[in-house]
Amino acid sequence: MALKPLHEWGISVNDILISAGPCSAESEEQLLETARGLADGKVSFLRAGIWKPRTHPGGFEGIGIKGLEWLVNVREELKIPVGTEVAYPAHVEACMKYKIDALWIGARTTSNPFAVQALADTLKGTGVPVFVKNPISPDIELWIGAIERLYNAGLRKIGAIHRGFSTSKKILYRNAPNWKIPIELKRRIPGIPLLCDPSHICGTRELIFSIAQEALDLLYDGLMIEVHKNPSEALSDSGQQLTPDQFHALMRRLTIKSETGDSREYEIRIKELRHEVDHIDEHLIQLLGKRMDIAEKMGDLKRRNNISVFQPHRWEEIINSRRTAGEENGLSGEFVFQLFQVIHEEAIRHQEESEK
Ligand code: PEP
Ligand code: MN
Repeated sequence: MALKPLHEWGISVNDILISAGPCSAESEEQLLETARGLADGKVSFLRAGIWKPRTHPGGFEGIGIKGLEWLVNVREELKIPVGTEVAYPAHVEACMKYKIDALWIGARTTSNPFAVQALADTLKGTGVPVFVKNPISPDIELWIGAIERLYNAGLRKIGAIHRGFSTSKKILYRNAPNWKIPIELKRRIPGIPLLCDPSHICGTRELIFSIAQEALDLLYDGLMIEVHKNPSEALSDSGQQLTPDQFHALMRRLTIKSETGDSREYEIRIKELRHEVDHIDEHLIQLLGKRMDIAEKMGDLKRRNNISVFQPHRWEEIINSRRTAGEENGLSGEFVFQLFQVIHEEAIRHQEESEK
């Protein structure tokens, strides 16, 4: 994909792109005051939802088209580009009428290829920057597919926003970060500007710094952060919005990282450490190969004795003992569990294959 690099989008971007603003536009005064509070915050575009996809009916579902007028007034008064979420072709048409500077497709919409295609058809020829939020489910193909639909419609200013994934597990966050998915997205579409939306990942404002810093450590191109002049009165996502002061404090606290540096000492030391890691990885792979050879022998033995490949008690014993050994070696129990799930699945495949 030959996407336009971020610095050619016509939106001013400092080291990273920052989009900030309320979850929802609630009144012209709320929008204007919030935007005023963001002044000098190096914000590339003000964000505000006009049409809100709420899980249950009856909540605040957005102010609608009237909000576009407010956005345009704020843009004129503060000379700041503005952006909003679109879910239907009619939303795109209204945004184009008001010359909205940037759009994003929400997580629920990205999950629906019919909806994305209808948006792509309407966006054709507009040239407007569009960000695609990750789908609700941890399905990278749906995310890439939505980006492809926009690309095939001729758009070149396409970005991605990582806002986390729904999970049934009890976790600290509102949406699981699942970092490996956005990392893989960037590998599959190297030129795509990738933003992190720590507000929707975290769900609570106290957690935002650590997720935002992690995104910068992972070389993200920017952040989208929800800011409200008075979060406790917000009509949506009240617990995760920052006040403008909190937003400025967050910006001061964050450290922007770069992929390479110019310290000779760093270069020498990182080379040595990488050499050690390469060596360990080589051993890990050799050991895993040996482990699978043994799995094949066990497969033969089990088959000759009419014994099932899967042994629930043995599996339980493996999980518990490896988890404990992992913790003794500074590894998290969850990491070791997931690692051995993958190893065990591969061992079963080898045991089955030894039959063929
Ligand atoms: C939003 O940005 O306010 C929003 C609704 O986000 P998401 O699509 O990530 O839930
Ligand atoms: Mn929100």
